[in-house]
Amino acid sequence: MASHGSACPCGSSGSSSAIGSGGQVMTPCCYCSVEAYLKTSYIEQNFGRRFWSCVNYKLGRSCRFFHWYDPPMCVHGKRILRQLREKHESLSIEVDSHVSMAEHGTPQKNAELEVITLQLRGELSQLRSELETIKKKNDEDQRISRNVLIMSWAFFSIVMLSKLLSRSTNDESLALLQ
Ligand SMILES: [Zn+2]
Repeated sequence: MASHGSACPCGSSGSSSAIGSGGQVMTPCCYCSVEAYLKTSYIEQNFGRRFWSCVNYKLGRSCRFFHWYDPPMCVHGKRILRQLREKHESLSIEVDSHVSMAEHGTPQKNAELEVITLQLRGELSQLRSELETIKKKNDEDQRISRNVLIMSWAFFSIVMLSKLLSRSTNDESLALLQ
């Protein structure tokens, strides 16, 4: 909503005076006795030119208040403005085409990423199986060393036992001799 100048001088509805006595911009009132608001025209003949309009216009009210705020543009200004608009439109089209190109490029990127992901997955499963092999080998080594330990203990025990037995037999034969 435009806030040019003072409150609405709506004593007289449909005021068409936009400039106050002190050169101050006054907000006019429409035929509904409501403060008008400033809009911008985008039609070819008056592109960018501002005008006062009724706030209820969009609500389908019959108030047809209309008052130009900006003076009409000179022919040269209109021509410059048209050129700028054309330039803007062509740039917009170019931007849109770049955007759509970027969007079309995305599936290709996705496919590349998918290939990389598959490769990484393959490498990962290979590493896992290698790790599994190493684990198994480690378990086997541990089992073997445990068995070796048990067997050496058993051997040691047998040797000790046989020594003890032979000593006791010797003692017995000595006792018999005495
Ligand atoms: Zn109105």
